[in-house]
Amino acid sequence: MPKYIFVTGGVVSSLGKGIASASIGKLLESRGLKVTLIKCDPYINVDPGTMNPYQHGEVYVTDDGAETDLDLGHYERFTNAPLGKNNNVTTGKVYYSVISKERRGDYLGKTVQVIPHITDEIKNSIRRVARGKNFDVVIVEIGGTVGDIEGLPFLEAIRQLTIEEGHHNAINILVTLVPYIKSASEIKTKPTQHSVGKLREIGIQPDILICRSERHIAREAKEKIALFCNVRDEAVIEALDVESIYEVPVMFSNEKLDKLIMKLLNLKYKGHDLYEWRSKVLQRIKNPKREVKIAVVGKYITLQDAYKSIYEALIHGGIANDAKVHIERVDSDDIHKNGAKKYLKDVKGVLIPGGFGYRGIEGKVKAVRYAREKEIPFFGICLGMQTAVIEFARNVCGLRCANSTEFKKNTAYPVISLLEKQKGVKIKGGTMRLGLYPCRLKNATKSKSAYKKSKISERHRHRYEFNNKYKGVMEKKGLLVAGVYPKANLAEIIELENHPWFVACQFHPEFKSKPDKPHPLFKAFIGASLRLS
Ligand code: GLN
Repeated sequence: MPKYIFVTGGVVSSLGKGIASASIGKLLESRGLKVTLIKCDPYINVDPGTMNPYQHGEVYVTDDGAETDLDLGHYERFTNAPLGKNNNVTTGKVYYSVISKERRGDYLGKTVQVIPHITDEIKNSIRRVARGKNFDVVIVEIGGTVGDIEGLPFLEAIRQLTIEEGHHNAINILVTLVPYIKSASEIKTKPTQHSVGKLREIGIQPDILICRSERHIAREAKEKIALFCNVRDEAVIEALDVESIYEVPVMFSNEKLDKLIMKLLNLKYKGHDLYEWRSKVLQRIKNPKREVKIAVVGKYITLQDAYKSIYEALIHGGIANDAKVHIERVDSDDIHKNGAKKYLKDVKGVLIPGGFGYRGIEGKVKAVRYAREKEIPFFGICLGMQTAVIEFARNVCGLRCANSTEFKKNTAYPVISLLEKQKGVKIKGGTMRLGLYPCRLKNATKSKSAYKKSKISERHRHRYEFNNKYKGVMEKKGLLVAGVYPKANLAEIIELENHPWFVACQFHPEFKSKPDKPHPLFKAFIGASLRLS
């Protein structure tokens, strides 16, 4: 039987609950425990796949092709937990299932209600993840903030689970804000008291409070929080702002959070091992030998979360090369208006991430051209690969108005086009080419020397493909298809032969990169960019 840790958030959103949950997972793994993590999202979408980045930030894709919340990205980067479609539960999924059962007649004779039917469905979704898997601990993060109307069924479900699982088998952690008020030169505990009050109204007494604060929380303040919120002094954990998210597990460990959790859950004490994390990850983040400036050219660069995994994977590529990566976020529309030189002349590498829709494309094409002609290392991902192909077709192969049929249906040169299979697809949710597919790499390519093997498999999220009709023309001019999905002969990676490092892939390598296991393509890209520095 696994133990459960429920993580909720108080006062405001964006307190880093996801990173807190991932860090707890990391700490427990470092003590030899087997963990998994679940994210519950109270919105009514079945998954975030149909939301735009302004609404949701990045959509994270798992091996099994689920389109999930970006917190699952944090979980996978920090821990070894195997995650898939069941690790993200949404209100949409829960209602979908309950309503389907009702139509089938599973509840015949009954009125179907939030309590117990919706809450039972939530509890089953949580317990299903652990069934038959030997996890020691299941960490369940509830999205949103305590007090949100839409979060109530989830809170009621974890209240019931806490009681059903019993003492020492389930605990509640509230991540809360302890603000510093400048004019009073004081930190304030009242917002936390209110959030805990709200939780207790529902019937949940938090066991631990993780207190986000920009200032040190003195012992007296901790005691006050403990007294008013009905927890022990040792259960008030200070979480100061840190430079790198990868410091959080160590900070929690210094606050003895892992020991406390193990005590509350009656888990056998095992010594912890954060040595590798400290020496391989933190040491290099804090004291890098070199630095390098990389441009990310996208259309959502003002949003913190839209390219989350890309930014993290670049940092990992830096760790692998003992270098600090300075990320220059460049708006592709600005390049479209003012030309690429203004924004890219000082950078040592250019990355174009994934995306959808025509806006921003012409600016990205200009960015590709600049990187190709100036021989700046270039890394294209998904839409980034597609724009690289369009640019090469237009400016090297002379196919002047080459385009993707996503942007121009009747283009004369559809160098990127819809897969036959996708042509009849009308439903938008969950119908892209999603999840893990194998790819075979050609010998004597940059990709092969990065991966150091021929068979790889990577995660996908797209509908459009490189059009093999143009392969011959392009290969003649020096564009090489370096990786192929053998079963359907789909181009997965392209490279330019006469360029120091120009690699673009149809898949999303950023989803499989970890700070202690940087992705080979990101490692090679940063390595190539450093050579230019
Ligand atoms: N819009 C492109 C497609 O659907 C690229 C998708 C992406 O970059 N994730 O194929």
